Amino acid sequence: MENDVCKNLDKCPIFVKGILVNDFADLAYKNMYCLVPGKYKTCKRYLAAQATGKPVPESIMPNSSKSLEEIIQIINSK
Ligand code: SF4
Repeated sequence: MENDVCKNLDKCPIFVKGILVNDFADLAYKNMYCLVPGKYKTCKRYLAAQATGKPVPESIMPNSSKSLEEIIQIINSK
């Protein structure tokens, strides 16, 4: 059965490590991506993690302007 929320939510570094500027940004991302069935699958962090199986840099936001290919290159160059 399909997950209703992103499986990475409990350990996603942008939330766990307090990367975001404030609680509003935290909630906004969660309500736009993480907690929305179907939408989390469009998150660049989710997609990059799925594609590489590696940690995604904390600087990559769910709506990153970088393409998925660019993000994957960054991850694989580390
Ligand atoms: S930011 Fe992306 S990868 Fe992290 S929990 Fe939300 S949907 Fe999942």
